[in-house]
Amino acid sequence: MPGWQDLIRDVRDFPRPGVVFKDITPLLADADGFNAAIDALAAPWRGVALDAVFAIESRGFILGAAMSRVLGLGFVPIRKAGKLPATIHAQDYALEYGSDRLEIHADAVEPGARVLIVDDVLATGGTLQAALALARRQGAQVVGAAVLVELAALGGRAHWDPTLPLEAALVC
Ligand code: 5GP
Repeated sequence: MPGWQDLIRDVRDFPRPGVVFKDITPLLADADGFNAAIDALAAPWRGVALDAVFAIESRGFILGAAMSRVLGLGFVPIRKAGKLPATIHAQDYALEYGSDRLEIHADAVEPGARVLIVDDVLATGGTLQAALALARRQGAQVVGAAVLVELAALGGRAHWDPTLPLEAALVC
């Protein structure tokens, strides 16, 4: 019987030649599949003391909002540059070509709040590393991270704090 994992499709040469992109839109469009994927993403965190989900724009918002709902947590957006209206912390991080920036509201949660970082895909790890740095500058206590898909061959896990759990619902 096909599982939710089968609803993630590989798209070749996106966004650049040579890249095989994990496209989660067919999964999101399938009610049972989406539900099962969120259950799998949330499973390791049920019963863990948490206050908020910190989710990374933009696909991380979709999964993070659902996680907030099923785990009964607040939702905090970590956004691309220039989108948040109030006082922010910003973190630059390296991409394969060039760099990018993530931002968070400086007052998003109380200092010491226990947070879970959520994103869709862990690839080279730079995005999750930047989110971790931002959350810590914000004063949050990062309890761990949840990603739907880990692309293990890209070694992104090496950029994560090894003392914190990083749970992937699917490892490819
Ligand atoms: P990293 O910083 O780990 O190299 O890349 C992770 C970020 O890029 C995530 O925010 C994720 O949304 C996006 N990303 C990288 N590769 C893929 C992919 O194959 N599929 C999807 N859906 N997102 C990807």
